Amino acid sequence: MKKVVKFGGSSLASAEQFQKVGNIIHADKDRRYVVPSAPGKRFSEDIKVTDMLYDCYRAAESGKDFSKKLQKIQARYQEIISGLKLELSLDEEFELIARNFKEQAGEDYAASRGEYLNGIVMANYLDMEFIDAAEVIFFDENGNFDEAKTDKCLSERLEGVEFAVIPGFYGKRADGVINTFSRGGSDITGSIVAKAVKADLYENWTDVSGFLVTDPRIIANPETIGTITYKELRELSYMGATVLHEDAIFPLRSAGIPINIRNTNRPQDSGTMIVESTCSKPKYTITGIAGKKGFASINIEKDMMNSEIGFGRKVLQVFEENGISFEHVPSGIDTMTVYVHQDEFQEKEQSVIAGLHRAVQPDTIELESDLALIAVVGRGMKRNRGTAGRIFSALAHAHVNVKMIDQGSSELNIIIGVENRDFEAAIKAIYDIFVTVCI
Ligand code: ASP
Repeated sequence: MKKVVKFGGSSLASAEQFQKVGNIIHADKDRRYVVPSAPGKRFSEDIKVTDMLYDCYRAAESGKDFSKKLQKIQARYQEIISGLKLELSLDEEFELIARNFKEQAGEDYAASRGEYLNGIVMANYLDMEFIDAAEVIFFDENGNFDEAKTDKCLSERLEGVEFAVIPGFYGKRADGVINTFSRGGSDITGSIVAKAVKADLYENWTDVSGFLVTDPRIIANPETIGTITYKELRELSYMGATVLHEDAIFPLRSAGIPINIRNTNRPQDSGTMIVESTCSKPKYTITGIAGKKGFASINIEKDMMNSEIGFGRKVLQVFEENGISFEHVPSGIDTMTVYVHQDEFQEKEQSVIAGLHRAVQPDTIELESDLALIAVVGRGMKRNRGTAGRIFSALAHAHVNVKMIDQGSSELNIIIGVENRDFEAAIKAIYDIFVTVCI
């Protein structure tokens, strides 16, 4: 068995956390390739090393003295090195970083040093080979990830390497400049490594015991999801559930490698398995509930709309021309409603209305703002009668007025539009009817 293990910033924030990570790795000899993030927060008001690096580089870029800021970053690493009693000095590395900062090596170079240095510390601590991500992860000149080149080079480089540490978050562009993924991108590196070595499992270790059925800020201690499919995860992440970087799914989805979200602080918990497909029945009819506030709806009415060929295309074209993406478009015989992100829409509002009048000559256009969308997601809903009925009766009992309903034909999700102020009550009502009553 071959496992790739990625550890997030909070799992590597201090020497104590490093020790937990060491124990986890030593507990299973299949944990062969380690992808570390940069040290994260040790306590809630703490600053992540990545943010300290961005800040330090900004000072360097504007010609200010950045030495104090860099010393503080070095102190974070030194605390870990001393705590682990390692014989390792990063002095030379920091001298080189200071020189490169002066020469303006770029913001991405600066941010990437967090993972790079943590990789060196980790490799030293675990006595594993260190492989600089700049040697094996590639981007094109425009900063787009070069999947083919990376996969080939990385799999060749790791062939015959039994244990290695490969820092997350960055790689090298074709012109030699260091490039990072977007924030939280070490998750993506982990997936890429897992694909390249044809791993049996990608373990992503963080500070929660997996995906929760819903947002813990709305429901205290919600249940953990045992198994979730890539598709379900996509729906939930899109609607705001975050644990794993969204782009981390794609490399593995095509390779059929499962991801296991685990908690470094509670290794006894089995976490959440993310799989392509599964026969395992979900514990509840629904897998998860996620949602977002801040939508607006544009309701367009016109008599005989249903017989006007091209009506929908013309409407959506107006949104396209104004650079606004739409979320949902429920329609009736003489009405069509377009849901958009309120902040994107607000500045273009009048231009969109004028454009719609020109394009389709509607009878009326009505706008509504401060709406929320809630996605109720679950593979268990397929061929299962009564799910929608249960959702709507729960919402009625909670006095929540439903503004919109949209069920995809995949029967994987039901999207519900409510007013922003009903958002929390709606999620609570749905959670209770599917989860609390079943516990
Ligand atoms: N250190 C980077 C960040 O804070 C990448 C990561 O942790 O995945 O975004």
